[in-house]
This record gives sequence, structure tokens and C-alpha cells, in this order.
Amino acid sequence: MGSRRRLPLAAGVAPSQLRDPARTLMTVLVSLSRSNHASSMTQRPPTTSPLPDAPALPGFSDQSPERWVAALSDAGLRPQQARNAAKQLSRAWYDDGTAWADCIGELPRAAREVAPNVLGAPAPLTISERVTAEDRTSRLLFRTTSGHLIETVIIPSERGASGGRTTVCVSSQVGCGRRCVFCETGKLGLLRQLSAGEIVEQFRQARQIWEAERGPAPPITNVVFMGMGEPLDNLDAVISAIETLCHDFAFGLSAKRITVSTVGVAPKVEEFLRRTKAHLAVSLNAPDDARRTALMPVNKRCSMAELKTALQAGLTKGRDVLFEYVLFDELNDSLDDAELLRAWLQDVPARLNLIPANPGPDPALRQPTAERVWAFQKYLLDQGVRALVRHPHGRDVGGACGQLAGTHRTQLERLAHTQGPHGR
Ligand code: SAH
Repeated sequence: MGSRRRLPLAAGVAPSQLRDPARTLMTVLVSLSRSNHASSMTQRPPTTSPLPDAPALPGFSDQSPERWVAALSDAGLRPQQARNAAKQLSRAWYDDGTAWADCIGELPRAAREVAPNVLGAPAPLTISERVTAEDRTSRLLFRTTSGHLIETVIIPSERGASGGRTTVCVSSQVGCGRRCVFCETGKLGLLRQLSAGEIVEQFRQARQIWEAERGPAPPITNVVFMGMGEPLDNLDAVISAIETLCHDFAFGLSAKRITVSTVGVAPKVEEFLRRTKAHLAVSLNAPDDARRTALMPVNKRCSMAELKTALQAGLTKGRDVLFEYVLFDELNDSLDDAELLRAWLQDVPARLNLIPANPGPDPALRQPTAERVWAFQKYLLDQGVRALVRHPHGRDVGGACGQLAGTHRTQLERLAHTQGPHGR
């Protein structure tokens, strides 16, 4: 087992700042974004040769359990032994929350001897802060070994015919390079990619926290990649994390309950649809190129027509795409806009989520009145478009769409809800 390389905390952020609940999340993230923008790039290990004291092996959760079966077989275990060892390790780590050293220590002798030579330790993430909203949405702030902060949100939902579900929203990058003008995460820029193990680890810890306290509320069955980052800019890690989330030895989720949300990078859209059965959501947010480009710089290089062509090519029979459309007051929410949207959607198998804008970095981008939102939805429903309004979760703690890493004003007021570090 390789030992993890310890990297210094981000310049300008003292360890006490990360622990002190009186410091707002905003202050810490802003100072991280200022100081880390350049330095974090140099912290990223080169992709070709590892730094001398970097782990020699991929972390346990960086690869799916299937890979570990193969690796353990290659190391000399009989196929059944290898399978049993990978299964035992995965169950102990992912399901039971056993400490990693004990997971290895409890293996049968033959497996115990070879496992440390082929398996790296899982990627550690430390809970730095946790804030729970009135609707029980819980926003978790994790610190990576490189000192970066990422956010994960647990979203219970009581609605629906099935009696409700609980969803975990994970981050795929530290910050985001896509710089949509309405999104707080985009303000940070891209600080670094998350590894598959770090994505899986967000889910594992969120699930343990939820299981310990959920009571009669539904268990976690759904995952959305709608946290910090653009998942298709970190596609290999995202696909690998999905494989682990779905693997029987690990969490056994159905790919149908995983949704990956993208700004819509056309070439990557096709690749994503080819490589996984998970759902794709595309943030559309405007009914024409001019407004989409103004809101989402990705549209400059990848127009709505190219996006549609990629979707039509990649969506095989029976698959559809979920479009997300954030409604901004008097910018994209008129009935003429609804008609433009309907016309654009008509040759793509699609569902539509309408999201009344949450407060973001630009105060000029406001949420429409409830009447305007309803009129927009009704127009589309009357035209046969499957359009739902997605109500915000966790807005009072800055945990709703577009607010992650945000400068939400009520953060300080809501510190009363802070439950402090949730380490184990
Ligand atoms: N990069 C990905 C995933 C992260 S954003 C993407 O863009 O899809 C997740 C969702 O939050 C997207 O649909 C995005 O359009 C939405 N969002 C961002 N800022 C928002 C805001 N201020 N109000 C409401 N939704 C927002």
C-alpha cells in the first residue's frame, strides 16, 4: 500500500480557518480561489510519471471492483479467491465503513499478503463542515488531501408516487472551467480534477451519514452529478466512479438512477452516451444561440445545433435526455421563449426541468414570479412537452443549484444550523 503524499494546505488558508465555524464558507473558498488558481495547477501530479512520493497505485475506489479481481488474480490468487477478496474488501469498506487497515487485516492470509502490493488505499476526504437546511437538505464540505474544498449535498425528497427518495449530489471537479455567468462555482475557475476515488468517497461518506440518522426517511438510491464542476471535462473519472457506484460488490445502484448534468460539450456527449447507461442531463438555459452564448460561454464553441446533432447521434432507442432550463426574469421566460424552446425540442427525445433561478453571482439575473414560471410551464404542457418545475432544495444554506461554492448572503445567519465536523 503506498502512503499518500501530503500536500501543503492552500496558500493563504490557515488550517484553523478550515476548522473554525465562525469563518464563513465563502471567505475560505474565495481565498482558496485567489491563492490556488496558479498554485493548484502546480500541485496536480503529472499524468505521465508520478511524483516520487506519490502513491504508486491507484486508490481503492479509483477503479471498479472488477479491476481488483483481475489485479488480485494477476498477483497470484486463484480466480475464486480473487473474487472473494475483492468482494469482502468492497463490502467492508463501502458498506460497513470498516477502517481501511482492518479491511485488509480481515482478509484471508493469501489475499492479505498480496492485496497491499496491488491495491492503493482509498482517497481520503475529511468533512470540514456540515450545514443542514430547514428542508433537511444537507450540504457537506469536504477537504481533499491537497487542501481543496469540495461540496456534496444530500437531498431528501418526500414527493412522488413512490413516497419519496433521497439523492446525493456529488462534485466532479474543484471549481469549474466553464464559467457560466449565473453559477457561483464558475466564478472559481477550474482548480483541479477530482479522482474517481474522490467522487466515490463523497457518496460513501454521505451515505454513512444519512444511514446513521435518516430514521424512516428513504435510503439513498439516486446520484446526480450536479455539484461543483463540469463532469464531461473529467469524463474518465466520472465513468469509473459510476462503475463503482453500480457494482454489486460496492453500492449496487442502478445506472438509471444516476444522472450526469453537463453544459453540453458535443463531442463528449456522444462519448458519454456510448460508455455508460447513466442518464444525461443538459443545461440548456436559453431558447436561442445569442442568449445561450451570453449565459454559457461553452455555446461559443459548441452551438445549440451541434449539441442537438450530438444528442440525436448518441441517444439510442429508448433513451432520452433531460434538459435543464433555468428561468431568469424577463431574460428567457416569456411565452415567445417557451415557443422557441418547444420548437427546438421537438426532434429530440427529451424531458424538461424548469428551474427558477437561485441567487447567483449576478444580482441582475433574478427569479421570475411564480405566475410567470407557471405560465411558461403551462404553455409547454399544453403543447405536449414533458415540463416539470424543479423546486430548489437547501437554498437557505446555499446548497441549491448554482450556489455551490457560493457567496450566499444568508450563510452566516444559517450557521445556527451548523452541526460541526462529522468525522468518524
Ligand atoms: N456543469 C454541470 C453541472 C453543475 S450545475 C452543468 O452545468 O450542468 C447543475 C445545474 O445547476 C445546471 O443545470 C445549472 O444550469 C444549474 N444552475 C447553475 N446556476 C444556477 C442558478 N443560479 N440557479 C438555478 N440553477 C442554476
